Amino acid sequence: MRQVLLLVAGLLAATQAAALDVVATSPSMGALVRAVAGDRADVTVLAGPERDLHAMQVKPSMIRAMRGADLVVAIGAELEIGWLPAVSASAANPRILPGQPGYFEAAAQVPLLEAGGAADRGRGDVHPVGNPHVDMDPVRMATVAGALADRLALLDAGGASAYRANAAAFRDAVEAKLEGWQSRVASAAGVVLYHRDAIYLLERLGVPLLGTIEPIPGVPPTGSQLKTLAGKLAGKRGVIIYAPYQSPKGPKKLADDLGWPVEQLPLSPPSGADGNGYLSHIDRWVAAVATGS
Ligand SMILES: [Zn+2]
Repeated sequence: MRQVLLLVAGLLAATQAAALDVVATSPSMGALVRAVAGDRADVTVLAGPERDLHAMQVKPSMIRAMRGADLVVAIGAELEIGWLPAVSASAANPRILPGQPGYFEAAAQVPLLEAGGAADRGRGDVHPVGNPHVDMDPVRMATVAGALADRLALLDAGGASAYRANAAAFRDAVEAKLEGWQSRVASAAGVVLYHRDAIYLLERLGVPLLGTIEPIPGVPPTGSQLKTLAGKLAGKRGVIIYAPYQSPKGPKKLADDLGWPVEQLPLSPPSGADGNGYLSHIDRWVAAVATGS
């Protein structure tokens, strides 16, 4: 009993010690908050790594989490536009509305790929303002960590030096891994993705994107589009990587046709991951990319 009481007291102390209540839309952003804030933030992640951030259903638990939040950390660039504004509106928490210090977007902190292009929302393109999947680039994430440290310091001045030191440590950890990642995939021939979601990582690694299963971001392929893709890639080497919420049918058919390896990988680490968990997630992707050699 005494041990249980001590445990409860310990949990209460831990709860009281957290200065900020932070909601992250994805596990990758949750991991970055944990990396930068350490135990000064309680983190709630709205969508697990197996979920499609383009198309989440609004749930009462999301609204409850945002009602008491000091800060919402999104990936941004309209990735969560189909559901996050609706959750915000229902949460009735003016501190976390866009434009307020309690709202932070990763994509607003870094240059975007595929921005200013001829994206056509009318044809179903879900990336109209540029590619939002910046959380797949560890180097951009290190930049985002620095901006996040400044934002956390604004909301909780007492933690300012800890936030900035943690962000610097995360940046150092990414820099320490980068060369190893790049040399591991030096002979990788290229990758076919289902969606243009890991393009930031491929660019960082210097590995070509050989094609996508989807003809337009957010639009599933037809049989003849898949056949055309298979024809274009015949005789080449590579690997096909798709996410848990994307249909395995096209990727597996293409892998069969080409004799390539195919792998399903989430775009985020597990929901409870911290900075190290995020780096392990990138390790898994690098290992998968390396199989396309
Ligand atoms: Zn997307």
